Amino acid sequence: MNPEPKHVLIIGAGGVGRVVVHKCAQVPEVFGKITLASRTKAKCDQIAAEIDYPIDTRAVDADNVAETVALMREIKPDLLINVALPYQDLTLMEACLEAGVHYIDTANYEPKDEARFSYEYQWPYHQRFKDAGLMALLGSGFDPGVTNVFSAYALKHYFDEIHYIDILDCNAGDHGLPFATNFNPEINIREITAKGRYWEAGEWKETDPLEWHRPYDFPVVGEKEIYLLYHEEMESLVKHIPGLKRIRFWMTFGQKYITHLNVLQNVGMTSIEPIDFQGQKIVPIEFLRAVLPDPASLGPLTKGKTVIGNIIEGIKDGKKRKIYIYNVCDHEECYAEVKSQAISYTTGVPAMIGGKMLATGAWMKPGVWNMEQNDPDPFMDALNQHGLPWEVVELDPDSPPVW
Ligand code: NDP
Repeated sequence: MNPEPKHVLIIGAGGVGRVVVHKCAQVPEVFGKITLASRTKAKCDQIAAEIDYPIDTRAVDADNVAETVALMREIKPDLLINVALPYQDLTLMEACLEAGVHYIDTANYEPKDEARFSYEYQWPYHQRFKDAGLMALLGSGFDPGVTNVFSAYALKHYFDEIHYIDILDCNAGDHGLPFATNFNPEINIREITAKGRYWEAGEWKETDPLEWHRPYDFPVVGEKEIYLLYHEEMESLVKHIPGLKRIRFWMTFGQKYITHLNVLQNVGMTSIEPIDFQGQKIVPIEFLRAVLPDPASLGPLTKGKTVIGNIIEGIKDGKKRKIYIYNVCDHEECYAEVKSQAISYTTGVPAMIGGKMLATGAWMKPGVWNMEQNDPDPFMDALNQHGLPWEVVELDPDSPPVW
């Protein structure tokens, strides 16, 4: 027997929030009731008006635990999908514990005054969620999210031991604007301007920001320049994939993007340190965010595809094996379906699927869990079903490494 449809509360009415609402509305047998809440209610109303399904909309300040708990007690959701910003993760986890609501997010917590994102802040909630009989599913976007599930799926079906993982995030889309980020600019720039970091032989190794780069020949979209970055899924995968010897993360950027970023950084516009300006304190990167295009506005402009996935090497039945597991997503097709470009789409669809895994009971277990700590199979099936089909390609085990 199928479980009763659940009431989902979605917090955050940005690019990703829009996709989550559209996709939840496509599965009324899972999410019988949808409430969308955000700081600016007008943005929720705009999204609700696009969808031919009843969406309740509310204003909420997710930095305020009491206000969020009051909303949850009033509307009584079963689960929360947090697609506000990483700054709100802890207040929303606290609110879920107080109101008895399951929790899902797509990005790990980052303090506002320090460009340092880590699961260290959220993992200690494990016992409290367990004791409350609630589940918190961390990082249910694409990367983190699908890339973690790809790793777990590879371990379950393709390898006895995984030794090397390279996660490759390629956005070959073009919006035609001189400079724009395709998700929240503040979070995006904080991530890219940080030092690069990867994990090898049991320890983290650092590079200068964007120091390591090379062209890589991707399936479908061809050659693009990839840059080594630190990315949050590595923090949990090094704990949960036994026998791992090395994991790295690479993202593509065009030369125009890098040139703009260098200029902005050189003139101090990407700094998170407040400065005095005409008697007021302003944070340069927050000001920059205000003048850059809203990622949600890129939807109708962006053409091309994303190719995101993992190259995984290890051992199966005593022999070396190497596979590439990836999804290809088309910006214009995403826009036609849910009025968003592929970056928001590839994040919002897995957030909905994470919700589905909890709502249907497939993954439900009290405590705080990363994606790869759950059975990958139902999630992988759901990716195929809900718009993010994937492929596994066998590579020559002796082909040269990414770097
Ligand atoms: P946007 O900036 O487009 O949207 C964020 C939304 O959150 C806005 O509607 C904003 O409201 C709302 N918000 C911000 N602060 C609060 C608050 N205190 N209370 C209530 N609502 C608030 O971001 P995106 O949609 O691009 O990204 C959403 C999340 O997805 C981010 O955490 C991002 O890091 C994550 N992400 C994850 C990826 C993955 O693959 N795992 C990839 C891309 C993004 P307002 O409009 O009023 O400012």
